[in-house]
Amino acid sequence: MPQKKPLIFVIDTSAIFNRIQYAAEDIQLATTPLLEKEMRQKGLKETVDMLLSAQKLCILEPTQISLRKVREVAKQLGDLDNLSDPDIELLALALDLTSQNGHPVLVTDDYSIQNVAQSLSLEFRGTNQPRIREVIQWETYCSACGHKAPDMSKDEPCPVCGTPLKRRAIKKKPI
Ligand SMILES: [Zn+2]
Repeated sequence: MPQKKPLIFVIDTSAIFNRIQYAAEDIQLATTPLLEKEMRQKGLKETVDMLLSAQKLCILEPTQISLRKVREVAKQLGDLDNLSDPDIELLALALDLTSQNGHPVLVTDDYSIQNVAQSLSLEFRGTNQPRIREVIQWETYCSACGHKAPDMSKDEPCPVCGTPLKRRAIKKKPI
């Protein structure tokens, strides 16, 4: 049974401002050194430190190959002038993570970043979701046979077929 690739939100400063799902336990956050600097300069130092110490956020340097590729595509699209160096880093990081064993999703409200992301076949989403004001109800289930096992934990073997169990959100209650 192939393991699902881990979901990684590749975030820019707008994503931090809008408090995208920090809390969702299966989602890892990643950003680049230039963006980390920008976040700290924009008054988000405490949030960044909190996410780093919780090992929720990792700071990764994109490769030169990906940086070149992003610039090339952005130039073709006429978007290069609309992108800052941190924007280009962000796209390049998402590209790197795609070729590694991850499932990156760019989280940004920047239209040029989204445009270039689309051309590079990178997954992306905006941050314009309501802030988290809800409690998530989780369900333990087997992704192979569909068995629901409310009293068991994630990663325990399914009592029916032996596949490691997963968790998913089934209900969100407003706080
Ligand atoms: Zn099963």
